[in-house]
Formats: sequence, structure tokens, C-alpha cells
Amino acid sequence: MSNKICIICKKHGYGIIIKGKLICKSCETKVIECDLDSEFYKFYKNRLKEEIYTRKSV
Ligand SMILES: [Zn+2]
Repeated sequence: MSNKICIICKKHGYGIIIKGKLICKSCETKVIECDLDSEFYKFYKNRLKEEIYTRKSV
């Protein structure tokens, strides 16, 4: 339950949960501090899109 894997860095951690997916504290901090056109931000947005906004049937 608390042993979630961050969808961005794929590490176990704690942070914010969006629709059951974890974004760890360090990735959250990183994305807040990074530039909006940085590679990390693009990557982050893509991961969100893939993991959260795409409805995957199980
Ligand atoms: Zn992370």
C-alpha cells in the first residue's frame, strides 16, 4: 500500500498520489523547480499522460 513506485523515477518513495499513482517528493520538487521547456518537464508531462490520463483497461 505504502510501497508505491514513483511513475517518474521508478523508485520507491513517498509523495503525492494522483489517481493511485505516486509522484515522489523529489520528482515533485524537481518539476516545480525545473524550466517548463526542460527535458525533465517534457518527460514528466509524458509520464503523467501515459500513467494518469490514459485509461488502461486491466
Ligand atoms: Zn520520483
